[in-house]
Amino acid sequence: MVRIKQAVQMDHSPYLVPTGQPVDLRAWTTDDDGGLDKRAAKDRTDDLNDRIEALQELLFAEGRHKVLVIIQATDTGGKDGTIRHVFDKVNPQGVKVASFKKPTEEELGHDYLWRVHRHAPKSGEITIFNRSHYEDVLVVRVHDLVPPEQWERRYEHINAFERLLTDEGTTIVKLFLHISKDEQRERLQDRLDEADKNWKFDSGDLRERAHWDQYQEAFRVMLERTSTVHAPWYVIPADRKWFRNLLVSEIIAATLEQLDMAFPPAEEGIRDLVIE
Ligand code: AMP
Ligand code: MG
Repeated sequence: MVRIKQAVQMDHSPYLVPTGQPVDLRAWTTDDDGGLDKRAAKDRTDDLNDRIEALQELLFAEGRHKVLVIIQATDTGGKDGTIRHVFDKVNPQGVKVASFKKPTEEELGHDYLWRVHRHAPKSGEITIFNRSHYEDVLVVRVHDLVPPEQWERRYEHINAFERLLTDEGTTIVKLFLHISKDEQRERLQDRLDEADKNWKFDSGDLRERAHWDQYQEAFRVMLERTSTVHAPWYVIPADRKWFRNLLVSEIIAATLEQLDMAFPPAEEGIRDLVIE
């Protein structure tokens, strides 16, 4: 097993959204640096990512636990970058990513959880949701895609759905990548100014930016109503990418450590075998 120089060492509790309490999103910082400098943070992230790689192999070998990582953020919040950095050492066969885009005609014909449930991880798997069923209380709410009395009931469905998953052996980690409006402006501007980022620019993001306050309110209510004991939310300060990556790597590594896994026992007698 890979030895790491530093084990998980950050206290995550300041980033955990307490269950059943009012949330004021403005009170959650976007530019925390954990008192670290970039170089030290990157080294630590690197060590943690080695650890995540080893723990993923153990998870697969043991085949007992299912792990679901749900990532939500504002546009440009860093969902893709987080996935790329935190899981950069993991065996490509070891994690699945499910990205949820605008629902197809077929998907819209069903209830909103229909397309989601089939991507939930099975035993031994880690699945990352890049966006998720939470879009059905975010973009759907902001743009009135269904009437309020319909999305209003979804918070309860979602809690029950996640409860079902955890009751059946899934560990759920929910990460909200929190950036400031100013940071979003800079990231969008970079996508215009830098030729190799032009492909990322989506004029739809500007239309969504015009709804910034409504999105913040939708995220706030999401955090307030769906941070449960079985599936809590973390608010990740995400203006500094290196701090975001470090904190997410710490949370993922700590979550996997807590599963207290072991390799399955070797087949009887194989230790005496010599291959000819
Ligand atoms: P991207 O992640 O940038 O490729 O964009 C995916 C788009 O799909 C975003 O604009 C989301 O808001 C949108 N989307 C994802 N899920 C839903 C949903 N359930 N209803 C409507 N739009 C959605
Ligand atoms: Mg986009």
